[in-house]
Amino acid sequence: PPAPEVEALQHADVAALLPRPAPESDKYRRGVVGVVAGSARYPGAAVLAVAGALRGGAGAVRYVGPAAEAVVGHFPETLVSTASPSKAGRVQSWVVGPGLGDGPGPQSTVDEVLDADVPVLVDADGLRLLDHDAVRARTAPTVLTPHAGEAAALYGESRPEVEARRLDSVRTLAGHLGATVLLKGSSTLVASPRDGDPVRVNPTGTSWLATAGSGDVLAGLIGALLAAGLPAREAASVGAYLHGLAARLAGPPLTASDVASQLPRAWREVE
Ligand code: AMP
Ligand code: MG
Repeated sequence: PPAPEVEALQHADVAALLPRPAPESDKYRRGVVGVVAGSARYPGAAVLAVAGALRGGAGAVRYVGPAAEAVVGHFPETLVSTASPSKAGRVQSWVVGPGLGDGPGPQSTVDEVLDADVPVLVDADGLRLLDHDAVRARTAPTVLTPHAGEAAALYGESRPEVEARRLDSVRTLAGHLGATVLLKGSSTLVASPRDGDPVRVNPTGTSWLATAGSGDVLAGLIGALLAAGLPAREAASVGAYLHGLAARLAGPPLTASDVASQLPRAWREVE
């Protein structure tokens, strides 16, 4: 029989995929996540992306951007850098985009991150600034996490058009950009750029997640899973699963900060 077009991610699959630190591991080998996010206008996006990465099990988080004070105020364990991403020190993955804003500064930062030879997750403003050819030229994996509006902009379509054919949209986008694409919304879908991989549907989650900043937490979380060495498709789907579970533990109602705080409990429920 032909391979199924979609598959639901199972609890047992997630459990098998959860990274576990080896006895001899250290913080660098466990995975350093570089976070490029936030702006004077949106410092909170940086804090939430860092929260997602730390609660997602990162060995360390390196923050690069203008919201260092807010980030360290919330998470003193964060390493901060005022250098540009390529000079900020070694990382095992990059998360770029939440709350970055617009203009030449953010644009060159996104371009620089796409040049890195480690897995890169691009979200939010990073998606608007995305050079499609640069993504296609990457050798390390890329994960894109648009909601329907962001996917529509990437795709040259309208939001209702994407909403009407979510499965097709996410698959086409992944193939077209050679990236793993996680399409957010009432049912989160993960498409791989590889032909024949079924699209994964995330069974956890709740519409209470439709709240400011929850996507920023997801971006950081998936960044941590990438840094721990999960392949892009697995990092995206495990991230969506844990994020949805954490939301159910956090509320209702819930805030994005609550979701980040519940990630360790969600992790232990799966483990
Ligand atoms: P963002 O759009 O970046 O703020 O991210 C919003 C987060 O909430 C994503 O993880 C979405 O999948 C999730 N979300 C948004 N709306 C819904 C919904 N109606 N049902 C379930 N999850 C949702
Ligand atoms: Mg968002």
